[in-house]
Amino acid sequence: MKIAVLPGDGIGPEIVAQAVKVLEALRGDGLKIEMEYAHLGGAGYDAAGDPFPPATEKLALAADAVLLGAVGGYQYDTLPRPMRPEQGLLRIRKGLGLFANLRPALVYPELANASSLKPELVAGLDIMILRELTGDIYFGQPRGIRTLDNGERQGFDTMLYSESEIRRVAHVGFQIAMKRGKKLCSVDKANVLDTSMLWREIVTEVAKEYPAVALSHMYVDNAAMQLVRAPKQFDVILTGNIFGDILSDEASMLTGSIGMLPSASLDAHNKGLYEPCHGSAPDIAGKDIANPLATILSVAMMMRYTFAREDIAQRIETAVRKVLQQGLRTGDIYETGMQKIGCTAMGDAVVTAL
Ligand code: NAD
Repeated sequence: MKIAVLPGDGIGPEIVAQAVKVLEALRGDGLKIEMEYAHLGGAGYDAAGDPFPPATEKLALAADAVLLGAVGGYQYDTLPRPMRPEQGLLRIRKGLGLFANLRPALVYPELANASSLKPELVAGLDIMILRELTGDIYFGQPRGIRTLDNGERQGFDTMLYSESEIRRVAHVGFQIAMKRGKKLCSVDKANVLDTSMLWREIVTEVAKEYPAVALSHMYVDNAAMQLVRAPKQFDVILTGNIFGDILSDEASMLTGSIGMLPSASLDAHNKGLYEPCHGSAPDIAGKDIANPLATILSVAMMMRYTFAREDIAQRIETAVRKVLQQGLRTGDIYETGMQKIGCTAMGDAVVTAL
């Protein structure tokens, strides 16, 4: 298992260090794990003048999987756009062909009170959002800000999806649904957008190859509403890049803590980039108070999706659950009566439970 480790910025190095402890513990148990470090985001800009330095690209291409902390920081906000940390993230996703972004929204019974929704609405919630990651309006050309004849400026972007892009992500969606509750809801805006009409047509076509999966379609505005009205109706949600960006953040908040949510971004051969859903949290960086569980759970996803080791994935997830059952909490998920601990102590507790 060749893993490229990219701690990134802000709390990235702190939370990644805890996930690395877990990997080291697994290595101690006999797994053949190799880890090598490189810079991404602001750390890449600081070290090599580039948010996605060539050395990082080389390492990431050679690895089976990439473990990433997070990127971004206020000090980089004034840099020209190509130099900003987020560009490093977009470039590594595109460069590795990571078109399928998996974000589970799972509510642990111990944390059901952390949600802003009523506990009965979210208790037992287990949704998988699959967001297409390398197409859509985020990458479509042309884009820009132009000046019209009357002197007024106009911003424009292009929403684009080709059939093949839709088809490959749809296959991933149906395959995931087969391993879960066999329900897939495809989210689009086919009542208004031509891109979405094609999306719906292709998804419906791909569905014929997966007769065991119940396919439904939903407009994105309704999906946004249903996610807070009755979120447990969903199993797998399949959607495009921009809709998925927004819906996956909304779904993450159903769980109450962004510090608990892992993610995976996969290519066509299950090579993946694994990272927590949250950002670099510069407001709490360096204080040893960040929640490392999303990053540790990202390692579980890595074992499941890239290395096909469901047993190890479950072992890590069980260890996290055990630690929650012991009443251990970082500040973001703390409730009265629980024991508040820091980032390092949380990492140690998971390793012990493992
Ligand atoms: P954020 O997710 O970094 O932080 C939002 C809030 O959640 C903050 O109050 C933060 O302290 C808290 N938080 C986040 N992760 C936490 C954790 N593990 N434990 C405890 N609390 C946690 O989002 P933001 O503040 O909007 O963005 C900060 C920076 O991160 C920006 O530069 C942004 O561009 C970047 N960002 C990066 C990614 C990524 O690397 N994938 C994603 C989102 C934002």
